[in-house]
Amino acid sequence: MKNASPLVDTPISELLQNRSRPLLSYEFFPPKSEKGMSSLQDATEGLIDTHPDFVTVTYGAGGSTRELTFEIATLLRRFGYGPIMPHLTCVGNTEAELHEIADQIFAEGYRNIMTLRGDPPQGQENFEVTQGGLANARDLAQLLKARHPAFCLGVAGYPEGHPESQGHAIDMDYLKSKVDAGASFITTQLFLDNDYYYRFVDRCEKAGITLPILPGIMPALSLGQIQRITSMCGATLPNALAEKLTHAGEDKEAAMNSGILWCTEQIVDLLQHDVPGIHLYILNQIRPAMSYQLARTFIEMTGMERKK
Ligand SMILES: Cc1cc2nc3c(=O)[nH]c(=O)nc-3n(C[C@H](O)[C@H](O)[C@H](O)COP(=O)(O)OP(=O)(O)OC[C@H]3O[C@@H](n4cnc5c(N)ncnc54)[C@H](O)[C@@H]3O)c2cc1C
Repeated sequence: MKNASPLVDTPISELLQNRSRPLLSYEFFPPKSEKGMSSLQDATEGLIDTHPDFVTVTYGAGGSTRELTFEIATLLRRFGYGPIMPHLTCVGNTEAELHEIADQIFAEGYRNIMTLRGDPPQGQENFEVTQGGLANARDLAQLLKARHPAFCLGVAGYPEGHPESQGHAIDMDYLKSKVDAGASFITTQLFLDNDYYYRFVDRCEKAGITLPILPGIMPALSLGQIQRITSMCGATLPNALAEKLTHAGEDKEAAMNSGILWCTEQIVDLLQHDVPGIHLYILNQIRPAMSYQLARTFIEMTGMERKK
């Protein structure tokens, strides 16, 4: 990371507290190829005028794209995005390295970190604690808050349970431990049926978790893509969506349109339920992000009332 920018990001907790409407955020990921980089640059350029309230940049599984995460964050900053929230995971880092990374992030003026345990590196089935490292997101949140109390931390929530989940009650205990460690908000794993989100929010409220819970939404781009992703993260692929994507067959445009329309309907419903924001997994592409604009236009044109 180069220490060139004097910018200091606003904590997302402040944006959430002062919001007059639901926030909009995009997730970018560090691409692995030149073609991927060019798609990211197009998206970066094409989406700046949609004015997301903040953007996030993932941290490659196994820390594989660690430097790239910060390069992409710098690129987004150059384009005028902000605040920018890098993700950070425990995978492959000792505590001493995590301190060093935290100091670098802070020195660069980033004030928000998506705080995660991380997925195992490719080829490794289960998460293994790095020697001298940390075992879970709660411990990483504690480390980051102890090092720089001004950090605003987001943590992950799982409306359908984490793939290693031993049940909703234990999941909720883990989530609560992350909140107690200093998290300011929760972003959910993707879901394609909003009922999972609403039930999750209910369970959180019953467990005394009152932080904003940002729904994470990903448009399906094809049947193969969404089947692969949902099987990895444990989200349910609704039959009705699978049928639409199957019906599109080899027609890539038709499949993408079905996925974006599904996602738009999800967002319309979520906005009617007064969610604190919409976090879009945009897959480094422009069109998936359009679902939010479509949803807002639809609500404005139809004058739809809030449901709650
Ligand atoms: C919004 C979002 C963004 C993501 N971004 C990335 C990314 O950039 N890079 C990446 O590699 N992955 C990312 N992931 C995936 C995430 O790393 C995986 O889901 C990972 O398996 C769990 O991470 P976590 O932070 O939720 O873990 P944790 O909250 O630590 O929980 C994971 C598991 O650890 C155990 N556990 C948790 N807390 C405790 C405890 N207190 N005591 C004992 N056991 C415990 C439980 O088995 C639990 O199921 C993201 C996920 C989401 C939802």
